[in-house]
Amino acid sequence: MEMLTLSLEGKVAFVTGGSRGIGRAIVTRLAAQGADVAFTYKQNEEAANSVLEQVESLGRRCVCFRADVSVREQAEGAIEETVRKLGRLDILVNNAGITRDALLLRMSDERWEEVIQVNLTGAFYCSRAASKHMLKNRWGRIINITSVVAISGNAGQANYAAAKAGLIGLTKSLAKELGSRGITVNAIAPGFIKTEMTESLPEEMKVKVLSQTILGRFGEPDEVANVVAFIASEAASFITGQVITVDGGLTL
Ligand code: NDP
Repeated sequence: MEMLTLSLEGKVAFVTGGSRGIGRAIVTRLAAQGADVAFTYKQNEEAANSVLEQVESLGRRCVCFRADVSVREQAEGAIEETVRKLGRLDILVNNAGITRDALLLRMSDERWEEVIQVNLTGAFYCSRAASKHMLKNRWGRIINITSVVAISGNAGQANYAAAKAGLIGLTKSLAKELGSRGITVNAIAPGFIKTEMTESLPEEMKVKVLSQTILGRFGEPDEVANVVAFIASEAASFITGQVITVDGGLTL
């Protein structure tokens, strides 16, 4: 029997929101598995440059783009530029995401629209642009980072939970559309992961989530990135249209 291969050598990955948090862990994990990686960020250039250096120190090619995924031209432009610079595109990870929490009566149109536009429409723009290249190769992986709140809902996060639930519908529909062409589409639903996004949450909410997490701790970005690397690899060749929860048992 052959050894299980998680190698991504010869592949090119594109990760949105790769400069910090879970996205940064995904970029460096995919590079460590052998992929060349392109990633986007919105404004933190210093963080992006440090990721770029880390990938290059792993001996992989890396390009990064200051590109807002919620703006169609910027999302598509970054993908086309990746193919020009790195020669192909095999793996897309729709990771960029934001929260703008408020209870329903205080939820402004702006908060609603911004969250839907970045978390959901951004993933649509990138998937449409990237799938063109994957269809040509008859191989591809699209991996959407959703959230456990897409399944369970969360008071104060109607916009975010709706966007993340939308991502699950997008995942399953694209899995059906693209499967016959060798492209798998899956979603990963993290629970509470230690990043800047969760750092600022109220202390009492952290205590509550921790008490409900079976493993008794918060997750690390690497623990999400490891699952992305598996789904991106040849080892996950028969998995499509799935939502894989990575939450330490929070939603059990
Ligand atoms: P962070 O806030 O730590 O990082 C967000 C990343 O996305 C940054 O790289 C940021 O760039 C980038 N970004 C933000 N907006 C845009 C945009 N419009 N266009 C391009 N890039 C953008 O978030 P996390 O790492 O915590 O979250 C990553 C993903 O995981 C998100 O989709 C989030 O919803 C999801 N998630 C997170 C959980 C958690 O507990 N942390 C739980 C469940 C899901 P810049 O550095 O320039 O700001």
